[in-house]
Formats: sequence, structure tokens, C-alpha cells
Amino acid sequence: MDLKNKVALVTGAGKGIGRAISVELARQGANLVIVSRTAKDLQSLAREIGDLGRKAIPVEADVTRESRVREFIRTAVDKLGSLDVLVNNAGLARFARIEQLSSDDWDSMFETNLRSMFLCTREALPIMKQRPESVIVNIASLAGKNAFTGGAAYCASKSGVLAFSKCLMLEERKAGVRVIAVCPGSVDTHFFKHESLPNPDRAKILKADDVARVTVDAIKLSGRATVSEIEIRPTNP
Ligand code: NAP
Repeated sequence: MDLKNKVALVTGAGKGIGRAISVELARQGANLVIVSRTAKDLQSLAREIGDLGRKAIPVEADVTRESRVREFIRTAVDKLGSLDVLVNNAGLARFARIEQLSSDDWDSMFETNLRSMFLCTREALPIMKQRPESVIVNIASLAGKNAFTGGAAYCASKSGVLAFSKCLMLEERKAGVRVIAVCPGSVDTHFFKHESLPNPDRAKILKADDVARVTVDAIKLSGRATVSEIEIRPTNP
């Protein structure tokens, strides 16, 4: 896909991987709807995208709210004319052994990491299927494949993202919708700020730009070719 003048929507765009993917998409010529809950993150990202000569529509919204999802998907069409690329990126992790895991943490991981992906995808599909080609990127994790102590809810939610992505790919490939599930290992972002998470050696893990580059390269492939899954891990953690 040639991204020049295409329309992309990125959830969780304010920080980390979503921000890096948004900037890389803009560098390649896309205009964007950028979604997260923190206005100041969105404003500074919109400025950065504007400086690259592209349009950015910031939308302050919680991706777990169904009515807000419906509104921000419509925003892409109303303000930018279409929707060619959807990046389902918003997500969070809370680590705790199952005996200590709260129901609130379980629910917030499943609602943010998985249910919101379903809501955004379902709203976007009728619009994206009208485009000659379109791409849905789902940010999963290597944690969706590799279990570890304390990761029950996070690993299960990301495993769900991978299963969801495969079904979506099979359902919509004939309609020209390419589906790419991205499985990063540890990435140096705000994600690790939460007290329940370990403190990795930030010099050794991935940068958000590493994930953004490989993701946007996969989006840019010919419409003939779908990279349905990407694993990217630190070389020497
Ligand atoms: P991050 O730096 O914490 O950024 C997460 C972004 O998502 C923030 O902009 C946050 O903004 C937004 N967000 C969270 N909940 C939201 C909600 N309910 N509604 C709207 N926006 C929401 O984390 P990251 O590392 O970039 O993570 C991005 C994705 O990569 C996640 O799906 C994560 O699971 C995945 N991942 C991360 C790593 C890693 O090591 N960092 C590894 C593998 C996969 P607000 O709080 O302002 O809304």
C-alpha cells in the first residue's frame, strides 16, 4: 500500500508504540486520527504530525467505551474522507499471581487489550471493505505465546488478540483487508511504569521506533501480500 494521502486511525496513539507508529505513518504520507485519553499527549503528537506536513485529528477517548468507538471511527470518514489503515494498539499490563489478581485488573486488561479491538474492528470493517485495499494492525505481544508467572491475564488477553487476528484475517482477506498481528518483546515505553511490572534494562530492550518501522514496512507491502504475524524481540536482552 502506498500510504500517500491514505487515512489511518491509531488507538493508544499518545505514547509509546502507538505514537511511534503514528509518526512513521505520517512520514510515509498518511493523514491520521489519533486516539487516547490524555489531551496533552495528543496535542503534542498532532503538532509533530503537522510539522511533517500531514493532518492529524486528535480524539480524546476511552477505547473501551462502545459509543466513543463508534464516534471516533466516524470521525475518520467525516474529517478525513475514509479509513484505510486501523491500528488497534491501546493496551496495558498489570502483573500479579492469579491468587492475588483483582477482578478489576483482569477486566481492564480484557476490555482494553481485547474487547476494544473487537469494537474498533467491527465499526471500521464496513468502511474499510469499501476501499480498494485496507490494513488492520493488531498489536499483540510475545506474551500471547509465552507464559510467565504473574502474566495470566495479560498473556491470556494477548493470546486472544492472536486468535482474534487469525479469524479476522480468514474472514476478510477476500474483501482485500490485510490483517497483521504484531508480537513485540519488551519495548522501552511507559508500559513498564506500573509498579506491578518488572524494571527491564532499558538500554537493552527494543525502542518503539523499532516496532513502528517493521509494522509500517509490512503495511506498505503490495496488496497481494499479507504478513499475517510479526515477531520482534530484543537481540540481546
Ligand atoms: P504505553 O507507552 O503505556 O502506551 C499506551 C497508550 O495506550 C497510551 O497512549 C495510553 O494513553 C493508551 N491507552 C491505554 N488505555 C487506553 C484506553 N482505555 N483508551 C484509549 N487509550 C488508551 O504502552 P506501549 O508499550 O506503547 O503499549 C502499546 C501496545 O503494545 C499495548 O497493546 C501493549 O500491550 C503492547 N506491547 C507492549 C510491549 C512493551 O514491552 N512495551 C510489548 C509487547 C506488546 P492514555 O493512558 O492517555 O489513554
